[in-house]
Amino acid sequence: MHSLNRRLARVFGTNTAVLPFTTSGTGGLEAAVVNTVCPGDRVLAISIGYFGDRFASVAEAYGAQVVRWQIPWGRAAGPDELRRTLRKHRDLRAVLLTHNETSTGAANPLSELCQVIRQESAALILVDVVSSLGAMPVDVDRNGIDVAVGVPQKALMAPPGLALISASPRAMDVAKSAAAPRFSLDFGRMATAIAEGTTTYTPPVTVLYGLDAALSRIEAERLPAVYERHERLAAFCRSGVEPLGLRLAASKDCYSPTVTAVRLPEGLPAGLLRQLLEREHSIMVSSARTVWANTHIRIGHMGWVSEAELAEVVTGLETLLRAERIRH
Ligand SMILES: *Cc1c(COP(=O)(O)O)cnc(C)c1O
Repeated sequence: MHSLNRRLARVFGTNTAVLPFTTSGTGGLEAAVVNTVCPGDRVLAISIGYFGDRFASVAEAYGAQVVRWQIPWGRAAGPDELRRTLRKHRDLRAVLLTHNETSTGAANPLSELCQVIRQESAALILVDVVSSLGAMPVDVDRNGIDVAVGVPQKALMAPPGLALISASPRAMDVAKSAAAPRFSLDFGRMATAIAEGTTTYTPPVTVLYGLDAALSRIEAERLPAVYERHERLAAFCRSGVEPLGLRLAASKDCYSPTVTAVRLPEGLPAGLLRQLLEREHSIMVSSARTVWANTHIRIGHMGWVSEAELAEVVTGLETLLRAERIRH
């Protein structure tokens, strides 16, 4: 546990311990909220898509007064707009933010946004880094992030079963006095256990071993090279799908390095395309969420992915789209 913790802390970019809770990423978002936000506290939730909405809903479920700043899907939050929003809403306990919005393929400018929050407010900064950790620099300490929530099963390419949480000294202090009820998700208890080289309750041991192996791969490639590979794969994916007439869903100033969402041509249902891609090409891409469910697909390129694999995805899509055009 000691060595795993040191290695995880490097990926988070922090000097504090990383707290591993036996739950999913969503459980991690819940842990972030129950340790720092009390019922009735005012919270600003910056949502650029489905997972930003979920973070806001978690805070609402625990009785926070949530101000939802809803940004149109496909866009990122802008630092100037954020500054204006923060000046309108004083007395915030926390600001909730998604680093990489997996539902739209858009990434927020994390450092710029954190800097504005630090300048304008005493609010805690809680960040969902679920689909960015291990693929994009999170830089917890440098950005002044109070709570960052990651998972093993996305860019860290290990099995699911953990929420990996870094909590700043400021967040740990707030947690000590926060009145929201909690037990197994308590930061203080877990931090004490981690300092002793153990965890509060039974950890998913298999996941810890998987994570350890994945971190060895990341360390062998070196983090800056891992980040660079994700940028390269994302650019490769975009340059492959755009000539097929698939419109990129995210604006060009905020393309995600880990997932590309595309809009399908009019009249081609996403469900059908996904089915054909899986049946005829053994390729699984993801559906999109809620309002984009029928019109968009999402191509993941996080973790253990190569250019050759993405090239296969592009070829598969090209074959199917050509056949579709012939049919119509
Ligand atoms: C996957 C994901 C989640 C949810 O994680 P679970 O482990 O499924 O609960 C939350 N936020 C983002 C950005 C995600 O990509």
